[in-house]
Amino acid sequence: MGSQDQNQYQDATLMLPDQASTPLLGANLAQLTAWVQEQGQPAYRGRQLYEWIYQKGVRSLEDISVFPKQWRSTLAEAPLGRSTLHYRSVAPDGTIKYLLRLADDQIIETVGIPTEKRLTVCVSSQVGCPMACDFCATGKGGFSRNLARHEIIDQVLTVQQDFGRRVSHVVFMGMGEPLLNTANVVAAIASLNKDVGISQRSMTLSTVGLRDRIRQLAQYNLQVTLAVSLHSPDQALREQLVPSAKNYPLEDLLTECREYVEMTNRRITFEYILLGGVNDLPEHAIQLSRLLRGFQSHVNLIPYNPIREANYKRPNARRIQEFVNALKQQQIAVSVRYSRGLEADAACGQLRITEL
Ligand code: SAH
Repeated sequence: MGSQDQNQYQDATLMLPDQASTPLLGANLAQLTAWVQEQGQPAYRGRQLYEWIYQKGVRSLEDISVFPKQWRSTLAEAPLGRSTLHYRSVAPDGTIKYLLRLADDQIIETVGIPTEKRLTVCVSSQVGCPMACDFCATGKGGFSRNLARHEIIDQVLTVQQDFGRRVSHVVFMGMGEPLLNTANVVAAIASLNKDVGISQRSMTLSTVGLRDRIRQLAQYNLQVTLAVSLHSPDQALREQLVPSAKNYPLEDLLTECREYVEMTNRRITFEYILLGGVNDLPEHAIQLSRLLRGFQSHVNLIPYNPIREANYKRPNARRIQEFVNALKQQQIAVSVRYSRGLEADAACGQLRITEL
């Protein structure tokens, strides 16, 4: 990202860390250097602080052993912005679900998903979610507040440290609707990119699709992948599944998506949950391909992960394959997401604040 992009982050709550209450996590090298100088320390301590925060993942400033003892002892109160681990559960496939406690005692979920080559972190952007999608456990639990920039970055550092290997991918698919918190999400993406060192192309932001918000996101000129939760090619059915669709007809949503592709030159992923007997019939596949014909996009099918608050069924493997084939026949690029972490209640849509 160039310096032009950086200016755009100014309104993205890029607050100077010299206010006592503003956490240091999320601050860039120049800001950290200014901060140490304000504390009467030489400028080079800024780089040390930067490395300890982003590379070593220090959890308390007092632990920065290269700092003089006397100064360290005064830093206990300085707000770094790290969460504390409340609960951790490991699924048989190696996926780890974390419940993290924030400074105000709110709890959020984060998931670490390892493969041989990748370590993906599924981050939350809000405490809870106000969208209330009918098949999603997070939505059933209500909404508390937006996450701040440091609370998003912290999730990635926490998983990186716990796994003892570098995070390669970040997906904004945990709790919350990222485009209701665009400023903080964009600021976190900038810092994860520049300070933590994760490429933007390895990040995906998933949205339910809210009027004007995709257009607004396009202004930031990010390289992240945008995923839009479509879930139905039919307006009436989509409204049943995704209540916010009532204020935003499919046609308008797709127009905005097309604009996004034009503005950013990035392909969009359309997420499509497969609910047995509800939206997985051959006619839905035909309708979907009609809707997306000629659109620079990719469909990611997500077989439903059961939640106890809803009565849907996951289609069987044959039905899923038939849906895939029907889309392929219409020249629609398609893949299936077999969610990891089912056994730990850590799969898509299963994130709720419970210890199982
Ligand atoms: N608020 C964002 C992120 C949601 S989580 C959004 O709406 O896109 C990422 C994906 O998982 C979304 O497409 C979401 O609709 C889907 N999802 C939610 N509950 C699910 C469930 N029970 N099974 C499978 N996918 C689910």
